[in-house]
Amino acid sequence: MPGALRSIFKVSHVRGCLFKAQVRRLSLLEYHSHKLLKDFDIPVPRGFVVETPEEAREVVAKINAPSVVKAQVLAGGRGKGKYESDGQGGVRIMSSGIEAFENASRMIGYYLETKQTPPGGLLVKKLYIYKAVDIAQEYYVALTFDRDRSMPVLLISNVGGVDIESNADRLEHYWFDMTHGITDEIVAYIQAQLGFSDQEMGVISHILRQMVKLFREKDATLLELNPLVRTCEGQFVCLDAKFTFDNSARFRQAEIFGLEERLPDEEDEYEASQAGLSYVRLNGDIGNLVNGAGLAMATNDLVSLYGGKCANFLDVGGGATRQTLLKAFEILNRDTRIRGILINIYGGIVRCDMIAESIVAAAKQLKGFKVPVVIRLQGTNSDKGLELIAKSALDNVIVEPDFELAAEKIVNATKHSHQRG
Ligand code: GDP
Ligand code: MG
Repeated sequence: MPGALRSIFKVSHVRGCLFKAQVRRLSLLEYHSHKLLKDFDIPVPRGFVVETPEEAREVVAKINAPSVVKAQVLAGGRGKGKYESDGQGGVRIMSSGIEAFENASRMIGYYLETKQTPPGGLLVKKLYIYKAVDIAQEYYVALTFDRDRSMPVLLISNVGGVDIESNADRLEHYWFDMTHGITDEIVAYIQAQLGFSDQEMGVISHILRQMVKLFREKDATLLELNPLVRTCEGQFVCLDAKFTFDNSARFRQAEIFGLEERLPDEEDEYEASQAGLSYVRLNGDIGNLVNGAGLAMATNDLVSLYGGKCANFLDVGGGATRQTLLKAFEILNRDTRIRGILINIYGGIVRCDMIAESIVAAAKQLKGFKVPVVIRLQGTNSDKGLELIAKSALDNVIVEPDFELAAEKIVNATKHSHQRG
């Protein structure tokens, strides 16, 4: 796998989540996931979303029984997480309205750090509350795709809950196909492995089949119930769920994508996608503006070869216009990590003179480039484009027609440039 592609895939091997995930993906907050499960007849507790401590008090007082109060953030591991306010976790069982009020006062508007959040945690704006369930057994159940076998796979275990990662070896894998779903044969295997009674297995197989239906109809790439619990009264209820959806399905899953929550560092990616740009944030300090995914990856690799690190993968695509280019510059310009920009355009359909005009226009709009910019233009109308750049006498700009030299030059220029902001 080329370096760039490797960095586009982050391995999220963290508690409660066992999968490699592409950076660009849609995730839902827990209460949205619960609603979706309910729509597909998968049992969830009746929950309430609150945004103030007063509301939390009212809800728990009304439930009038021990209630679970949960921080709503785009990360798992909340139970074992730590709040900046009081060092406690993000899943708490409260037995009175007053207790809920006091706890919610230290939960809403504070950062919760878990093994799945960025360092420093995520800001909690909402809590989800439901009547606590008496748990007899916690199960882990997930559907995802096995890329090695090119098949969907069901993972199931009776050691679900917050320690699933250390019990990953106790997950049973059942591969299935979308046409047949969870067959009677798979159901029989699960029953034998996990020791469910016939009556229990009836409920579990209904849940599994509904999960497959949801997975297929909503273009999910991951559906993880952890835990699905058996209550002391013998009922099955899903207490926590995590979904990931296929980003390419955005056009036909408008309703689900309308619920999208983004992490703060995903805002740029979202804005870029709205403008028709493919943008992925990486960890380096060299801005990378390229047309074509292949060229973008090759550029990332060459920059790495010369000892640099790209801050992003930004493909303006074949249909780049002045507007999309301006948007691309705007995103790069406000990224304070960036110490240099490499523009690498191969003009096929796109004309290099239009690119050059856009670069000059962007420079004017931004009142000059604050960091060194190396420009390589090749292909359709590149002579005209380079001439335009030369005539504009922009500060901080180096024109280099050779690909390798361009990569080397931006790495060197960046070493002598100071980080902004
Ligand atoms: P996570 O830590 O972000 O995965 O949050 P979960 O919603 O999975 O909650 C963490 C743990 O809290 C679960 O594994 C359960 O053990 C516990 N928990 C959640 N809801 C209830 C409940 O209604 N009753 C009891 N007894 N425990 C619960
Ligand atoms: Mg969980």
